[in-house]
Amino acid sequence: MYELGGKVALVTGAAGQNGIGRAVANRLAREGADVAVCDLRDEPVGNWGGLSQVVSEIEAQGRGSLGCVCDVTNSDNVSRMFKETLDRFGRIDILVNNAGSQAGPDRVPVVDLDEAVWDRVLAVNAKGTFLCSQAAARHMIGRGGGGKIVNLSSSAGKKGRERFAAYSASKFAVIGFTQSLALELAEHRINVNAICPGLVDTERVYGIASGLKPENVTTEAHRDFLIDEASSSNPFGRVAQPDDIAQAAAYLASAESDYMTGIAMNVSGGMVMH
Ligand code: NAD
Repeated sequence: MYELGGKVALVTGAAGQNGIGRAVANRLAREGADVAVCDLRDEPVGNWGGLSQVVSEIEAQGRGSLGCVCDVTNSDNVSRMFKETLDRFGRIDILVNNAGSQAGPDRVPVVDLDEAVWDRVLAVNAKGTFLCSQAAARHMIGRGGGGKIVNLSSSAGKKGRERFAAYSASKFAVIGFTQSLALELAEHRINVNAICPGLVDTERVYGIASGLKPENVTTEAHRDFLIDEASSSNPFGRVAQPDDIAQAAAYLASAESDYMTGIAMNVSGGMVMH
């Protein structure tokens, strides 16, 4: 449908079994792209094979793939990941900045927020997006222009919420960065856009629940409560699944969105409309 044959994509933070990164990587492959994926680790979690399993899924679709262990907050790691991807595929047409800071310890009131936790959230979500986008932009400009950069922001990047201060600040930063970079790269025919999901049913919701839950409630029970609460208040009566976000990412990675740049697209089932 989106005709990404011959394109090469790089998706960060893609090792989670129910994560948005895995869904995006598989969706881009289904549209015809070769897809490199990265995460902090490449190791199994229970029955789930982690990053290597995502690579296998992409290859099973007949596409090329590559798994890189990379911390997107580390510029040496990022340089190595881009070199490995370019050595293997010769080009990068699509970057999806999906890696997201671990949810949990950051979901406290600002008066209780640890400085190191703040730094890590901002480092993964804002600095990681900057470092990967910079490397992608240098490559895309260097080979004569054209390309797509898709950044994962959040509905928390449009509206603050109590106990979300570090995360919300980092996702507002992603939108500001997206707009600035979009203006800088338009002359090179490189589109830079952001996606703002509402709650998405991924492993992350357990992390959010662990940070927000009352003392006498289990993480599992509070996770179910968060999903039920977000579903019942949503105009569509459900939270997003990772494929809902992958669909938007595939569109923004395709020629179908060539005249769109600097946007922060809500994929929230109507929860956010600005
Ligand atoms: P997740 O927490 O389940 O997965 C994030 C992945 O990023 C993990 O595999 C993690 O290991 C990886 N990661 C973390 N730090 C990294 C680093 N420094 N370098 C490389 N990889 C790193 O998240 P998700 O729910 O799949 O969300 C993906 C993106 O979408 C994130 O940016 C998140 O903030 C955003 N988002 C998620 C939701 C949601 O409700 N799930 C809502 C809005 C936005």
